[in-house]
Amino acid sequence: MTLRNGKEFLMIPGPTNVPDEVLRAMHRPAVDIYEGPLVRTTDECLDGLRRLFRTAGRPYIYAANGHGAWDAALTNTLSRGDTVLVLESGRFAVGWGEAATLAGLDVEVLPGDWRRPVDPAAVERRLKADAAGAIKAILVVQVDTASGALNDIAAIRAAIDAAGHGALLMVDTIASLGCVPFEMDAWGVDLALTGSQKGLMTPPGLSFVAAGERALAAHRTADLRISYMDWTFRDGPEHYQKYCGTPPEHLLFGFRKAIELIDAEGLANVWRRHALLAEATRRAVAVWAQAGALDFNIVEPSARADSVTVIRFDGADPAPLRAFAREVCGVTVGGTIGALSGQGIRIGHMGHVNAVMLLGTLSALELGLKTLGIPYGAGGVQAAIDHLAGALG
Ligand SMILES: *Cc1c(COP(=O)(O)O)cnc(C)c1O
Repeated sequence: MTLRNGKEFLMIPGPTNVPDEVLRAMHRPAVDIYEGPLVRTTDECLDGLRRLFRTAGRPYIYAANGHGAWDAALTNTLSRGDTVLVLESGRFAVGWGEAATLAGLDVEVLPGDWRRPVDPAAVERRLKADAAGAIKAILVVQVDTASGALNDIAAIRAAIDAAGHGALLMVDTIASLGCVPFEMDAWGVDLALTGSQKGLMTPPGLSFVAAGERALAAHRTADLRISYMDWTFRDGPEHYQKYCGTPPEHLLFGFRKAIELIDAEGLANVWRRHALLAEATRRAVAVWAQAGALDFNIVEPSARADSVTVIRFDGADPAPLRAFAREVCGVTVGGTIGALSGQGIRIGHMGHVNAVMLLGTLSALELGLKTLGIPYGAGGVQAAIDHLAGALG
C-alpha cells in the first residue's frame, strides 16, 4: 500500500524545489546575446548578487555548478605553488581543497571533525605559526551539507586578524546564501561563491563568485588563470564576455525571477523563515532522539545549520526510513554522504520551502519511525508545531 500519489516533495540539501514562477520565466524563446532584454537581465542578476552577498564587490556568473565556482575562485587569485589552508568541518571544504591540489596549489587541511564546526582558535594558532606568510588563501564553507555544520565566518575572520595574517578569506556559501545571514563586506570576506540550485531556487547550472578588493588585487598577479574562468576577459566591454561565450540565457531569466521572489519576501524574512522551519525540524528530531536510536550529527546546538539537518542513526538502519518516506509517502529526504555514508539522513530545508512541506516531511518521517518499529520518542511533530505556534502567536 502506498499513499504517495499527490504532490511529491523534494527535501534534500540540493538541488531544491524550483518555484513555478522561476520555471515559467525560463519558458520562452532564445534571444539575441548582444543587445536587448538579455543585457538588462544580466545587469539585474549582477545587482541582485551584490544584494545577496551583501557586497560592493564584483560578481561574476558562470555556466557551471558549484565545483566550477571553486575553480574560478582559485584560478583567478592564486599562483602555482601557493599554499592554501582548508578548514575542515565535513566534506565540502576538503573537496574544494582537492580541486586546489589539481590546479597546482599546495594544500594543507586544518583537521576538523565531522561533528563540530571549525574552531577559530585553531585557525588563529595555525596562522600565527605561519610567520613567513606562506599561506595565501583560507578555504571554508559557511554551511557544510554533509555534516550539517554552520561555521562562524565572522569569528574566523577575527581569528585571522588576531594572527595578523594576510591570507585571502574565501567562503563557499553554496548551501547558505539566501538561507542564513551572510555579510561579505561587514565580515571581511575577500571572496565568496555560491550556486543557483540551493537557497537560490534556480535549476542547477549557474554559479556565482563575488570578488572583493583584495581578491581583485590578487588577480593582477595570479598565474593560474584559465580562459573560461578569467575575470580580466569577463570584465571586457562586450556583453558576451561576461559569460566568456554564449550566456546561459534561460537560466538567467529563471535566476532573475528567483531574485525578484527573494526581494518581494525580503531577505530578512527569508532568513527568518529558514530559521523557524529549521528550529521546528530540530525540535522534532530532539524528541525522536530520546529513544536513543538516532541523534543530531552536530553536537553543539548553536552550530546546527538552518538549511539542512543531518541526523545520524546509532542503533538503526536509516535506509528503510528513507525508502518509506519516498515510496509510501511521496517525500524524498537525503541520505548521508562521505564519512557518514549509509549512517543517517539529511533533511534539506532550504530555498522554496514552506510550513506545509516541512511539517508534511516531519510527519512522514514520524509515521515511518512508527510503522517500521524504529525506536523513537513520540511527539516530535507536536514539538515542531508547538515551536511554530510560539513563534507565530
Ligand atoms: C552542494 C554543495 C557544493 C557542490 O555544489 P555543486 O553545484 O554540486 O558543484 C559545494 N559546497 C557546498 C557547501 C555544497 O552544499
